Amino acid sequence: MKTHIVLLGPPGSGKDTQGKILSCKLGIPLISSGEALRTEIENGSEIGLEFEKLIASGALVPDEVMFEFFTTILSRYNLSEGFVLNGFPRTLKQAEFLSGYLKEVDCDINCAIYINVPDTEIIKRICDRLLCGNCGAVYNAYLNPPKNVSICDRCGAPLQRREDDEEQVVLKRLEVYHNETAPLIEFYRLAGVLFEVDGVGDIGSVTQRLLEVIND
Ligand code: AMP
Repeated sequence: MKTHIVLLGPPGSGKDTQGKILSCKLGIPLISSGEALRTEIENGSEIGLEFEKLIASGALVPDEVMFEFFTTILSRYNLSEGFVLNGFPRTLKQAEFLSGYLKEVDCDINCAIYINVPDTEIIKRICDRLLCGNCGAVYNAYLNPPKNVSICDRCGAPLQRREDDEEQVVLKRLEVYHNETAPLIEFYRLAGVLFEVDGVGDIGSVTQRLLEVIND
């Protein structure tokens, strides 16, 4: 079983949902850069305010800032026991930084999974996405609606939209993805650890495809 996993794919390809499921099934932590940045924003720190502006515009946090921030996050984990990384790396520089960091703690990525979903499907998915701020459940107003329009089925908390899920911001995030992040597919292909999975279909089917790759 492969346990040093990076999830790749455009925003809205299901990395977050699948990452949570994999983390549970494999018993290894999900380390999500987007979640870590949003927590920093909620904490109201000075750097959090900077993150908030960048995220709301659909731009990336600059690499150098990200290196410092994410090193602190990574240092909380015993990485040699395995992990699912979501949202980091997002640029070639970040991928190189991560390789160097992992080498120092004596491990390496052995599975980078590219969840392939076409842009047309992404826009449909994200613009109708609803999130539970309490338990983290993710819904889609059309594809996977909650029983009550604005309440989480799982914990009863009110559902919210992510500020960066507005259509204009989504288009910007997709552009940034194609320019900055998509080249990582080639990076991990060259490293011999790339696996591609079709990300279209219901959540359970995509999980099965991911598990086949991981367990192979
Ligand atoms: P996500 O939740 O992964 O979609 O990330 C939301 C936003 O956080 C992104 O659109 C970026 O603005 C920022 N972000 C997350 N991860 C990174 C990263 N590795 N490098 C730079 N910015 C990031």
